[in-house]
Amino acid sequence: MGDFTLELNDEQQSVREWIHGFAADVMRPAAAEWDEREETPWPIIQEAAKIGLYSLDFYAQQFFDPTGLGIPMTMEELFWGDAGIALSIVGTGLAAVGVLANGTEEQIGTWVPQMYGDADDVKVAAFCSSEPDAGSDVGAMRTRAVYDQAKDEWVLNGTKTWATNGGIANVHVVVAVVDPDLGTKGHASFIVPAGTPGLSQGQKFKKHGIRASHTAEVVLEDVRVPGDCLLGGKDKLDERLARARERAKSADGERVKNAAMATFEASRPAVGAMAVGTARAAYEYALEYAKTREQFGRPIIDNQGVAFQLADMRTQIDAARLLVWRASWMATAGRPFTSAEGSMSKLFASETAKKVTAQAVQILGGNGYTREYPVERMHRDSAIYTIFEGTSEIQRLVIARTLSGLPIR
Ligand SMILES: Cc1cc2nc3c(=O)[nH]c(=O)nc-3n(C[C@H](O)[C@H](O)[C@H](O)COP(=O)(O)OP(=O)(O)OC[C@H]3O[C@@H](n4cnc5c(N)ncnc54)[C@H](O)[C@@H]3O)c2cc1C
Repeated sequence: MGDFTLELNDEQQSVREWIHGFAADVMRPAAAEWDEREETPWPIIQEAAKIGLYSLDFYAQQFFDPTGLGIPMTMEELFWGDAGIALSIVGTGLAAVGVLANGTEEQIGTWVPQMYGDADDVKVAAFCSSEPDAGSDVGAMRTRAVYDQAKDEWVLNGTKTWATNGGIANVHVVVAVVDPDLGTKGHASFIVPAGTPGLSQGQKFKKHGIRASHTAEVVLEDVRVPGDCLLGGKDKLDERLARARERAKSADGERVKNAAMATFEASRPAVGAMAVGTARAAYEYALEYAKTREQFGRPIIDNQGVAFQLADMRTQIDAARLLVWRASWMATAGRPFTSAEGSMSKLFASETAKKVTAQAVQILGGNGYTREYPVERMHRDSAIYTIFEGTSEIQRLVIARTLSGLPIR
């Protein structure tokens, strides 16, 4: 721990400035337009691809940054620019991580590049786990994958919902049940390439915030994919299922469930970092506004009632970032989250973003309530952070279970 530091090194600082430049010059000016259009901002993704900011290489570099700060730094700057556009840019990463975590080298080499496309023909990918009756309760998943041995194909049937980039993706990563008796341990992930017969987009949702990000249902009707679209391969799946069946005989279901919840821990700091980005954007805007807006013959920041709010906002944002950086560093250093530090960072940062953006609206008064000023959009956008990748209640459940060792409900 002797070399522990919270300072970004020179390379990280220059990468951060580069992302910030794109966020400030390209994303922020386009944010209101794409929020109103409620469409995927393809031209902006293409701009990002042209400079290498939308590419497998860039995210892999940040992912493997030995300090663990590459991803949180990237997320914070992009989401500082605009949350909806940023999610359109990083949404593909969720699916890519699904393949990187579970796929064979060959699968990674084949599918991940197809998720991004190239600067002349950008593509996106979708990660499809949630279902209408299986949101927080992942164990209630119904989408089934059945192996057709004669043809060496998997047949998928079911309806996924809330999929970021669902239906418009070049590659869908679909989580499905292969053994219904094993709860979440009986799930497996599949690659479904675009244009596969039986794959279609259902309802596209009209949302409260992050409206530049496409969110839709994905319907799977007798979708057939080749055997090698099972991530990790059949042998590995069979071994894993056999082990899970053995364990299920001795362990109670609750412990099996807890283990599954823990696997999401590692990705949660990244969502915390997104929330920090939105919160910081709203705080900075409110600070400048409070310094220039005059009432009663003086800037409104001269009132303690306003200044103290800003002091609290900044304190909470910095605290949130520290929790995010701690969890990211722990994950990279291979330290186990013995106190659910990943969930803690996501819980605190997402609640902070909601609170801070609401305070920013208040500080801007009537202006804060209009679409003429960006804090209104940031406030709407921030509501997603306490919902996706596990709601705040589920984060508290994970933390409480981890701390107590008890199956708290
Ligand atoms: C914009 C957006 C994008 C998304 N992107 C994706 C994506 O790309 N891929 C994907 O697979 N999913 C995605 N999701 C789905 C997201 O992860 C789920 O919405 C989330 O997990 C919550 O599930 P739910 O909406 O079914 O809510 P529910 O699980 O029905 O929860 C409703 C409420 O009940 C509470 N609750 C539930 N269980 C408990 C409990 N045991 N104790 C206390 N409170 C509880 C919840 O905290 C919440 O407040 C996205 C969602 C949105 C809105």
